[in-house]
Amino acid sequence: MTYTGLVIKAHSGFFTVHTDSGERYTCTAAGRLTKGKHEEDALALGDHVTFELIKSEGFANGRITEVEPRVRSLARKDPIASIKNRNIRQVIVSNVDVVVFVFACAAPDFHPRMLDRYLVGAEAQKLPILIVANKVDLVGIDTARKLFATYEQLGYEVLYTSSNSEDVATHAGVDALRERLMGKLSVLTGKSGVGKSSLLNALKPGLQLEVGRISALWKKGKHTTVVPELVALDENGQGSWIADTPGIRSYAIWDVDAEELDAYYREIKPYVGQCTFNDCDHLDNTPGCAVRAAVSAGKITEARYDSYCRLREELEKQPKW
Ligand code: GDP
Ligand code: ZN
Repeated sequence: MTYTGLVIKAHSGFFTVHTDSGERYTCTAAGRLTKGKHEEDALALGDHVTFELIKSEGFANGRITEVEPRVRSLARKDPIASIKNRNIRQVIVSNVDVVVFVFACAAPDFHPRMLDRYLVGAEAQKLPILIVANKVDLVGIDTARKLFATYEQLGYEVLYTSSNSEDVATHAGVDALRERLMGKLSVLTGKSGVGKSSLLNALKPGLQLEVGRISALWKKGKHTTVVPELVALDENGQGSWIADTPGIRSYAIWDVDAEELDAYYREIKPYVGQCTFNDCDHLDNTPGCAVRAAVSAGKITEARYDSYCRLREELEKQPKW
């Protein structure tokens, strides 16, 4: 007799699997899944697995025998394996349906360059992106839309929210967000203070408590060993899951080489092939740069170009993996 389910927690070789009927089992992995050479982690949060029941072995009461092929993983190169010159992708969450970047319109101020960093990381991993502009009540919807206009023009989906329940007009954004995340596995990220906990609580009362515990673990800084859990967004855990990853900033950009950065700025990418030199970095002094020409022509905003330049310079300095 075998069961199928979703890995909602992965820690030190034990995996909590949530079955379709809502039961939870603690499983180990069958040896053949983990032995031998691998390009990435054999099992990760978000995996859909088949398991069999076993006679209780310590904590475990199940053994995972199959893992469904993954789509859209949020992954990074394993820093420890990299030091040993082995290229293993550490899968943080697999089968991600959408990454949600939460920013406040004010308190704290919105910093577009920070959003650009997140976007580059997500574009590099080909993950669907949703931008949440929160605390709209502080600035009003018109100002909020102006703040994020560039991103809407680039084709990114932006939802305007406020978890301030006295502000009826903007509270509608929370309903739209709930709707958007239904039946999905989402990764939610954003720096502290932007209103993530309040937003989660508005989506599902009580959820922030569960997620807060995970954030606290991450804040200890043990990013390589502490794996976040998926928490159920809907009442009975039938398909809406959220992973909260405060640590994303530290890895969002890691796997991007300086030379490929231009591919992850949606509006820069189309011009890259038109530069005179095919290794053009599009920075200040390169002659015949089509990207800089597009900036002069107003086709690329100064702010986004500036953000590209700074990030490119930063990436040039980082050690190559
Ligand atoms: P987190 O660190 O991202 O989880 O942010 P919190 O949810 O803890 O919120 C940080 C602060 O912002 C708290 O003082 C909240 O009361 C406040 N806050 C959160 N959401 C909103 C909002 O939509 N509007 C306003 N005006 N304040 C908010
Ligand atoms: Zn160029």
